[in-house]
Amino acid sequence: NTRIVLASRPNGAPVSINFRIEHVPVPAPGPGEVLLRNRYLSLDPYMRGRMEEGPSYAAPVALDAVMEGRTVAEVLASNHPGFAIGEHVLAPGNWQTHAVIHGDQLSRKLENNDLPISTALGVYGMPGFTAYVGLQEIGKPQPGETLVVAAASGPVGATVGQIAKLQGARTVGIAGGEQKRAYLETLGFDVALDHRADDFAAQLRAAVPDGIDVYFENVGGHVFDAVAPLLNDFARIPVCGTIATYNARGAVLPGPDRLPGFMSQVLRQRLTVRGFIQSDLHAFFPAFLREMGQWLKDGRVQYREDIVEGLENAPEAFFGLLKGRNFGKLVVKLD
Ligand code: NDP
Repeated sequence: NTRIVLASRPNGAPVSINFRIEHVPVPAPGPGEVLLRNRYLSLDPYMRGRMEEGPSYAAPVALDAVMEGRTVAEVLASNHPGFAIGEHVLAPGNWQTHAVIHGDQLSRKLENNDLPISTALGVYGMPGFTAYVGLQEIGKPQPGETLVVAAASGPVGATVGQIAKLQGARTVGIAGGEQKRAYLETLGFDVALDHRADDFAAQLRAAVPDGIDVYFENVGGHVFDAVAPLLNDFARIPVCGTIATYNARGAVLPGPDRLPGFMSQVLRQRLTVRGFIQSDLHAFFPAFLREMGQWLKDGRVQYREDIVEGLENAPEAFFGLLKGRNFGKLVVKLD
């Protein structure tokens, strides 16, 4: 079993010495357990939070423990009646080639459908569900309303834009760089913008003549600064992620304190600002699988994967995710 453990906690952006690669014997499954060979490992922005101690919605990864992560895995041996050799499952398989997990902890078997199994980590899994449920429960885009989302070429943002469009909204997607920006146009965003452009804030203003009704917050930072003055009364802001500041957790950020001004705006404009963690809303997951399965089949929702080969390349790929070097759902192929 080859695995990557958390060797030290980062100070700012994570670096290679924060991880260590180890080779250990493949464990044998005990009663009720299955032995899995991980085939795809999902790399996600939340993993930056797991590297850090301090208050959060989930416990940190302990030092010297295997880094946490979802995998798509193949059953190699099974002592659980629910799983047979050769089946594929979604698993909390972590950053390693093999895992032993109790069958009761495996929530999802990947049935035969026409989708690649890796999509269970992206558009047809947690990130796609995040987009779906954040819109359904908080964003609630109405026909003719304007929705804005950044990190819009990634699995959450791309799905947000496409679902909102299906629901009749006018959509503005934001991404870093011309290549990603042009890709957003192929997804059907009404307007696609590059947040690295010098005049990005002016471009955004011009793109939303009727203001912004839903801002699906994935990034924070300078994108949020450009969005805030353009929000309409009663706008909804599902707060999904603030990746622009994930490497600055705990630090006092530079600049004037804009919190009193923003709270006053929330009040005056009767904004709904609601943070959410997708796992709290798991009751909607079956409906998501049904609806998204149909949209994918009909080609009404498209997706893009960024597949990196080899577990040893996971740390570097993860560093890139926090800087926008990924282009689509970042997945590591392990075999
Ligand atoms: P992506 O694949 O979209 O990767 C993250 C992207 O963020 C990068 O590619 C980059 O895209 C963008 N980014 C990074 N830094 C900045 C910055 N300073 N300003 C603007 N954009 C930046 O990730 P996901 O789709 O997996 O996740 C998107 C967001 O959703 C994240 O914040 C994540 O934490 C959050 N999330 C929240 C969940 C929840 O339950 N609340 C569940 C899943 C995800 P670009 O090059 O376009 O700038």
